[in-house]
Amino acid sequence: MHPFYNIHSHLATENNDALLTIQNLYNNFDNMDTSKFYSIGLHPWYLNNYEEDLILLKKYSQNKNVLAIGECGLDYLCSTDKQLQMNAFKEQIQIAVTLNKPLIIHCVKAFEDVLKQLNDLKNKIPIVFHGYNNNVTIAKRLIDKQYYLSFGTSLLRNKNIELLKTMNPNYFFLETDISTIEIEELYAIAAQIRNTDKNDIILQIQQNFKKVFLNDN
Ligand SMILES: [Zn+2]
Repeated sequence: MHPFYNIHSHLATENNDALLTIQNLYNNFDNMDTSKFYSIGLHPWYLNNYEEDLILLKKYSQNKNVLAIGECGLDYLCSTDKQLQMNAFKEQIQIAVTLNKPLIIHCVKAFEDVLKQLNDLKNKIPIVFHGYNNNVTIAKRLIDKQYYLSFGTSLLRNKNIELLKTMNPNYFFLETDISTIEIEELYAIAAQIRNTDKNDIILQIQQNFKKVFLNDN
């Protein structure tokens, strides 16, 4: 059985043979259910309790069912102080490197600064840009660096079509983020865009998932 993988959702979902979801938490890390998978991180929008949350993040990110650190990153459209965002981002890069876990990146209007921070990592850990919704030129730069792109409901709004259609399939994921849409629907759309069978998408993402989140090359 090859499950559908949803690599980023803010909604609590039951995992079963047909579905594996990484639920994202940006606080209440002590509330994790050991039977589920998570990514946990300090979101640039919510850094008001930064020092305390960072201590909790360091503690709980070691849990086995935490498959990634993030979403974290830089968001220059939000009102959070930029220096505080940068400090939080750097701390989380360090946590991910120390634990050898992938990083899930939230990046809005801050590509150059995010890339600068990631550059020194020299691909020590996998990097996933979640909710990718930018142009093909930036996408190309990210894929050149062997970073991964994760697509969500932007595909329903006819965004990123050309990119997903032509990009190297070893570097993409699908996610529902805050939407209540079923991940299966995004798989069907991705298959349509790439002009292939849904099974191909299932196998491809499974392969990508194992490589990135299960450290299985
Ligand atoms: Zn999110």
